[in-house]
Amino acid sequence: MLYLDNSATTKIHPEVLEAMMPYLQEEYGNPSSKFYSLAENAKKAVAIARQQVADLVGCDSDEVIFTSGATESNNMIIKGIADYYGREDQGNKNMLTSKAEHPSVIETFEFLGERGYEVTYMDVDQYARVDVEAIKKVADQNQPLLTSIMWGNNEIGSLNPIQELSQIFEENKLFFHTDATQVVGKVPINLKELKGIRFLSLSAHKMGGPKGIGAVIIRKQSKEIYTRLTPLLHGGGQENNYRSGTLAVHNIVGLGKAAERAAINLESNVQRLKELENYLTDIFKNNLKDKIKFNSDEKDKIPGLVSLQFIGVNNELLIKKLSDYTALSSGSACSSSKPSHVLNATGKSLEEVRQTIRITLSPELSKDSLEFFTRIK
Ligand code: PLP
Repeated sequence: MLYLDNSATTKIHPEVLEAMMPYLQEEYGNPSSKFYSLAENAKKAVAIARQQVADLVGCDSDEVIFTSGATESNNMIIKGIADYYGREDQGNKNMLTSKAEHPSVIETFEFLGERGYEVTYMDVDQYARVDVEAIKKVADQNQPLLTSIMWGNNEIGSLNPIQELSQIFEENKLFFHTDATQVVGKVPINLKELKGIRFLSLSAHKMGGPKGIGAVIIRKQSKEIYTRLTPLLHGGGQENNYRSGTLAVHNIVGLGKAAERAAINLESNVQRLKELENYLTDIFKNNLKDKIKFNSDEKDKIPGLVSLQFIGVNNELLIKKLSDYTALSSGSACSSSKPSHVLNATGKSLEEVRQTIRITLSPELSKDSLEFFTRIK
């Protein structure tokens, strides 16, 4: 099976699995327990993983909070900030996001919208990017409790102008969250330089780690002052009271190892993904010139993600036809009754949406394996 759906999930890397195994077998201690070696070993393993994640994104290790994945990270920040800073007795209920966010962001804002919060959903351009000046204007006017804009789009692959966004939110000192799930390990991230980003979500299974584990970075207000928010999960007070529940040590170790590998291999992976992507897009440009349209522009995009429209071809039929030997995606969980809100926000017609395919590569692929695309007529 030729797997070309690496934005949906990735294969767990053997080194990651190897690192995890002891914590599923002999090292089964609970890191919240005390004094005996099984617990201490688990605690040490969690501390190492926390540092590995911090190193990948350029923050302090006590700013890394483990969650069950990016869906939870997004929910935690959006609901947690809304609740903590927007309680009944406080006037401001404004929140800000875009129309091209992942459902775990959009649906969470819709949930808040039904509970009295005033959410502004910003338009995006044809590549699903936000307009920085428009965001600045609305933020200055509404003083939103939180603004959430994704770093890289999971359907089209466009990168948002994150540096400019960070700059705005550094200056106006309003809370800014970014969902970086699709970009970790694919673009350099240094939160110490991007001071306007107060919260960042990431997930292990998009970078060779296990499913069911992710993290949210919650930057401190200052060296000693932690940012406050209402937790999603109350209980034993783990993760600095942000997220209660016994830590999934094996998964955390897996996330840490995946983060370490992502940091070490960032440059070579990006180079390889770009090389494969150019090879693939050249095939399309040369062989199917008038039969395809690319949805993303070539610059400022996630390397290895190609979203394109096969003119006149139903995407689900094409995916099914090729499914015996390859795994492709229509770009999202796009059913015939509910087409992609992202493509819709970029101005595509329903017909164009239903002809869109997303191909997401991995650095391990060979050019030869992509050669079969030359036979599509
Ligand atoms: N955000 C983006 C941009 C994603 O692409 C995904 C996964 O598809 C998620 C959030 C959700 O991640 P998880 O599967 O870790 O909950």
